[in-house]
Order: sequence, then structure tokens, then C-alpha cells
Amino acid sequence: MGEGRRFLIAIDGTAGSGKTTIGQILAAQLKIPYLDTGAMYRAVTLLALRRGVAMSDNAGLAAIAGNLDFISRDATLEEEKDGRQYTVLVEGEDVSQLLRSAEVEQWVSPVATVPEVRAELVARQREIARQAGGIIMIGRDIGSVVLPEADLKVYLDASPEVRAQRRRQQETQTKTAEEAQQGLEERDRIDRSRAAAPLVIPPGALVINTDNLNQQEVTEKINMALTAAIN
Ligand code: C5P
Repeated sequence: MGEGRRFLIAIDGTAGSGKTTIGQILAAQLKIPYLDTGAMYRAVTLLALRRGVAMSDNAGLAAIAGNLDFISRDATLEEEKDGRQYTVLVEGEDVSQLLRSAEVEQWVSPVATVPEVRAELVARQREIARQAGGIIMIGRDIGSVVLPEADLKVYLDASPEVRAQRRRQQETQTKTAEEAQQGLEERDRIDRSRAAAPLVIPPGALVINTDNLNQQEVTEKINMALTAAIN
């Protein structure tokens, strides 16, 4: 793969399908930046909860999104000890763990249905990609809406049982397997059925079911597809 070439890679998929982990491995291999857009929707949700902005107040939620002071960077070795995969600063505060709280988890998909919130965050995501030149972006609408011109689009999925098991290992609260699975399925249902930028398999995407594949096998498939896509 050409040294110094900047690729746009879109990774979408269901909750807990492995997008974040796979995206980070690829970003390290390809030496390009990485952005998990789910953290932006989670950050808006966290601020709305803190400020008492009603989840039905579209203008209030859009104002939070429009003014979001958000920085995502690689976690330090010290920070990685709490299991995080990257560090998110909102208004200078490290909110990485708070973004995974049960309350944020419960409200993030309803917040993400609000078209005005999406418009603000999508504009920001495109600007980040433009400035980076190349990026691996993770989310639900990256290949379909944010970066339709991506060099490679990937859609990851896995069975609800496997996804729930993975998510329980990442979360700050202890949940039963059943609770974790219900939470994921409810988010997927809202994400797929919303009117604005629903979760879909983007046309031309490489679809990978990660149930029986380890991280290396998934990244190998993506690297092979990238090589084919850019040659
Ligand atoms: O990926 P993560 O689980 O952190 O995403 C949290 C939620 O944010 C998703 O369930 C979805 O409702 C929303 N989201 C979205 N569009 C994106 C990324 C996340 O609607 N590009």
C-alpha cells in the first residue's frame, strides 16, 4: 500500500459488533487517524443529562451538539488500565468512562434520532476528515451519509449473544447477559428505524459477521479489501 497515501475508511455496524476495536487496530496499522463518532452522540447525551435539557427538546439538543467542545485522542498506557480504547475530553474534562454509563447508554439512541443533532455532528465529522486528509471513521451512517466517497466501506455485525458478551466486558456497570442483550437490541431497533440516517448496509460495503472471527482475521479481510479497492 502506497506510503503516505491517505485513505478514507468507513466502518458501520450494530452495537457491540467490534467496530471500535477493529477500527483502532487498523488505524495503528495504516498510521492514520481514527474517530469513533458514537462518542460524539454520547457526549451530547451526557451534557443534556447534566444540564437537564429534555430529550424532547430538539433545539436544546442541537445547541449542545453545535457547541460541543470535543476532543478524542489515543489513551495513554496509564489510561488504558481502566479498559478504555481511547480518551474523550469534553470541555477539557476526561469523560471516557462517563460516556459508557447506563444513563448515557439508555438515552443515546433517542438523542441520535434528532435530525438537527445529526446535522451538527455530521458537519463536524466531515470537517475532521477533511483536515486529517485520511481517517478511519466508525459509526452508523459513515458509509451512507458522512463519507459516501470513502475508499472502503465496511459493515460489521455479530449475533446478539456475542455482542452482548463483548459489551459486558467493556461496560462500567455490571449487567446480566440478558440485560446487556436487551439494551443492545433496543438501541439497534431505534438506530435502524429512525427516519434520519438510519443504520443500513451502505451500497458496496464489505459485510463481515465477526461471530467466529478473531480480531486478526477481521483486520486481514479489511486490509485485503482495501488493497483491492485502491489498486
Ligand atoms: O457506537 P456507539 O455504541 O458508541 O454509538 C452509540 C449510539 O450513537 C448508537 O446506538 C447510535 O444511536 C448513535 N450513533 C449514530 N450515528 C453514528 C454513531 C453513533 O446514530 N454515526
